[in-house]
Amino acid sequence: MTAAPEPSSRPLAVFDVDGVLADVTHRLHHLRARPQRWERFFQAADRDPLLVEGADRLRAALADHDVVYLTGRPERTRRLTERWLARHGLPTGPLIMREDGDSRPARWMKREVLRRLAATREVVSVLDDDPAVVAVLAADGWPVELATWLPHSSTLHTAQERDGRT
Ligand SMILES: [Mg+2]
Repeated sequence: MTAAPEPSSRPLAVFDVDGVLADVTHRLHHLRARPQRWERFFQAADRDPLLVEGADRLRAALADHDVVYLTGRPERTRRLTERWLARHGLPTGPLIMREDGDSRPARWMKREVLRRLAATREVVSVLDDDPAVVAVLAADGWPVELATWLPHSSTLHTAQERDGRT
């Protein structure tokens, strides 16, 4: 009898949440407002529609990978995000989030996390919808793919670059 592989021996597939699994479009108006309504932007994530293409990719990956979520959402939205994932029939973790006080652009936070993950696990794919994140991770040598089913919003891009909030 062949022993089943250890779960931890499976390679890691890393998935972003916003723009890959969750459709943020309906709440971007909170970031166009002046002053920007960041807390309302995050709290409205509860009502994000599921992006079917991303969810299909995630379910396919689960067959032979361990999946880790890597999101620029702040830690204080963890419960909301886990509930949202559960509601859509997706695993609720592991979910790596931005520390509440971390205001760096997402690409630097994500690069740091990937380097840490790779110390103990093989990272075989990273899926993210932010071209700036993809560029930095690709330059760092990660097998990263740009998710294109929800075009990355210029509103979100400007907010990230200027405020480093998501
Ligand atoms: Mg994203």
